[in-house]
Amino acid sequence: MDIQQVCFRRNVWPRFLSNWLLIILILAPLSCSAQKNTLTRISSVERSDNKGHVIRFHMASSANSFNFSQPRNHLVQFQIKGNEVTTSDIRIDDQSNIIEKIDFYSISGGLGADIFLKQDHFYKADAYPDRNGKDLLLALTKTSQKSLAQYILDMKSFPWSNAKTSKPSMADNSDSDKPAAIETSYQRIKDKIKFDTVVLDAGHGGHDVGAIGYQRIYEKNVVLDITKKVGGYINKYLPDVNVVYTRDGDYLVGSKSDPNIEIRESLVERGRLANRAEGDLFVSIHANAAGARQAHGTETYFLGLERSQTALEVMKRENNIVGPDNENSGKRLSQEDLIIYELANSGYIASSEQLATMVQQQFKNRANRRSRGVKQARFVVLYHASMPAILVETGFVTNPNEAKYLNSDYGQSIIASAIFRAIRNYKEQFEKSQHFNTTETK
Ligand SMILES: [Zn+2]
Repeated sequence: MDIQQVCFRRNVWPRFLSNWLLIILILAPLSCSAQKNTLTRISSVERSDNKGHVIRFHMASSANSFNFSQPRNHLVQFQIKGNEVTTSDIRIDDQSNIIEKIDFYSISGGLGADIFLKQDHFYKADAYPDRNGKDLLLALTKTSQKSLAQYILDMKSFPWSNAKTSKPSMADNSDSDKPAAIETSYQRIKDKIKFDTVVLDAGHGGHDVGAIGYQRIYEKNVVLDITKKVGGYINKYLPDVNVVYTRDGDYLVGSKSDPNIEIRESLVERGRLANRAEGDLFVSIHANAAGARQAHGTETYFLGLERSQTALEVMKRENNIVGPDNENSGKRLSQEDLIIYELANSGYIASSEQLATMVQQQFKNRANRRSRGVKQARFVVLYHASMPAILVETGFVTNPNEAKYLNSDYGQSIIASAIFRAIRNYKEQFEKSQHFNTTETK
């Protein structure tokens, strides 16, 4: 095997191009160094499939390409090509506690990094772009010493660390000069991340009316009212938290910039909007429908592990994801998409399940609603939000009693305050765990 060359796939660009144009337009007047690529942070987290860890390279703007190699058992080399990749004030947030040290090298047209792993386990390295197109992910998969030896057999080291390895170096044709080591002045931190933005997503909107219920009650109207009430409670009782709505009126998300946007694309846009807002939580609010009028109760979904098997395996088997309310939107996921989802969302999946459980407890114990439980589903709208994300089904508009309740100011207030309390409790728990992290100094 030769050194792995991983370039951005051409078909990735159209999906992200509009975002990038927007971001470039926003950044251009503020910064004369918009041309520079900055690696702001390196973080590690344990994978939710229990197969190892993922190291994330947080990029201020996307790299042109990247390579990696694993010339020795515990040395992974990473090369990022961009206009000029800088590491000033880089922060290392090694939650997995697997990084021994990192050396950075300045190379022509980019940056090289030698990542030395702790020696207590053996990992196969592999690299992917995050599907948001900006960060780079280094997957570390647990393996045996024997199979690692086989894996790295033909991997050659990048030239910047000639002195460090007895293996022959790989000729890098764009880079004949010997690269200089960069002074390593990075901070090792347990990052204190503030919980300050909640993204509230009222389902459907515009010509996508959602479920049509008893006495022609429309889901899109009911869920917008509930969503605005949740936002109102957050503004009132958690003034330090910023509320971002994916929609605040009766229109399809994304239709303001693209009047012809399709429902499926609108679902994707909701997640992108949440990512751009750098949300700490994504809550999508819906109402249910069933052929049987007696069906009633609440349920909350998260996109994550199946209890018996990993989400990855289930998603591989089914190999598609469906839209809210079981509209099958027929999107096929490639093997690579699935791996990237698992890597990009490790660390969020457990949080999503926790929040979903809190919402259902509130519905059941405080709002006296029938709980149909916490469930898992492959919703497009959750797939695209890179943060803990849940989808709440607040009740059935097809059930006469529940429809009246969901359509009333009283019922909407009860439902909204239950969702609000779950968010508040989640925030408190989150901040408590952050406190414990930050007191642990390295
Ligand atoms: Zn819905």
